[in-house]
Amino acid sequence: MTDKPDNQADPQAWAPATRLVHGGTLRSEFGETSEALYLTQGYVYQSAQQAEARFKNEEPGYQYSRFANPTVSMFEERLRLLEGAEACRATATGMAAVTAALMSYLNAGDHVVAARALFGSCRYVVEDLCPRFGIACTLIDGTDNGAWEAAVQPNTKAFFFETPANPTLALVDIAAVSAIAKQAGAMVFVDNVFATPMLQRPMELGADVVIYSATKHIDGQGRCLGGAVLASEKFVEDYLSVFIRQTGPSMSPFNAWVLLKGLETLPLRVKAQCENATKIAEFLAGHPQITRVLFPGRNDHPQADLAKRQMSGCGQVVAFEVTGAKQEAFRFLNALQIIKISNNLGDAKSLVTHPATTTHQRLKPEARAELGISDAMIRLSVGLEDAGDLIGDLEQALTAAAA
Ligand SMILES: *Cc1c(COP(=O)(O)O)cnc(C)c1O
Repeated sequence: MTDKPDNQADPQAWAPATRLVHGGTLRSEFGETSEALYLTQGYVYQSAQQAEARFKNEEPGYQYSRFANPTVSMFEERLRLLEGAEACRATATGMAAVTAALMSYLNAGDHVVAARALFGSCRYVVEDLCPRFGIACTLIDGTDNGAWEAAVQPNTKAFFFETPANPTLALVDIAAVSAIAKQAGAMVFVDNVFATPMLQRPMELGADVVIYSATKHIDGQGRCLGGAVLASEKFVEDYLSVFIRQTGPSMSPFNAWVLLKGLETLPLRVKAQCENATKIAEFLAGHPQITRVLFPGRNDHPQADLAKRQMSGCGQVVAFEVTGAKQEAFRFLNALQIIKISNNLGDAKSLVTHPATTTHQRLKPEARAELGISDAMIRLSVGLEDAGDLIGDLEQALTAAAA
């Protein structure tokens, strides 16, 4: 197997779409066109001396797939090239990526400031898990730059947020908040799942660590779980790699292979989904039974200017409220025919969920109210179906719900 990409060209000079098709390819002596799936746990050494050299890090090469695997390496390199990061490590799930990134870096006695509007399990990590290991956490309104500044303590080591946030699509000003973190000597960890690497590059705005659930748009077809952490070489060498190697949240080679192929079509899928989402948001905003639409691509989004500044596209998730409350929302969901009820997102299939009773049911009603998640709120992840069919489905379900 070659250690270098087969092509002599410099992948850094390629546009993103080219990086996503050719970046990171490791071609074996058989010259396969498509990336090989190396389903192997271990690697055979030519001699005891070679095994010793590999373990002492004196010779490059693979040792055990908990540490690294060629198919996983291809996925990591392709995503690294897209993000423009120094280093990337893949993990079994998005939550493994969040947990590994934060827990590999933080120590007892440290303090984290995090936005309150977080994916449920991310909030568990900072709100419940961190304090059990002596890491204090302050949750704030991430949309308020002053709140980040006010929450800083002498031992603040990390800022953590997602933007756009689930499910209200509230934004955090990445550049402004990163500047505050730099002043405070804290590292900025951004969960960039909702924006995807196609629409937002947090590192270019000052963030230090970017985290993905590859389960979402990177797979994009609802098959495999996966995650990734992108950061400086130093962060990966000093903290992340040893943590992954010793605690084992490693990505399966099979999943890496599926996700690697997912990266090839990511720009096409994200573009088509954004176009569909824009049409659907427009339709919903004009419908008498819809009281509110939250979509970063619309001028009535409370942070529309910031969306334009830091995102190159609007995303594919639309949040909205129907007239009434839980009962009306449920009637609407149950009447949908094409759009499926599921708490996942980023899929080719359009998926809809009622956050108050699913993804955010763990929160107390006051905590949901604080985040602006009402019983009438619905989150729609727009897929790759025909926009006319999707709008037709929404329209007939709204009619059925009103009957
Ligand atoms: C899905 C998701 C995660 C967790 O990813 P898994 O792959 O399900 O573990 C984290 N953050 C956000 C914003 C997500 O949407």
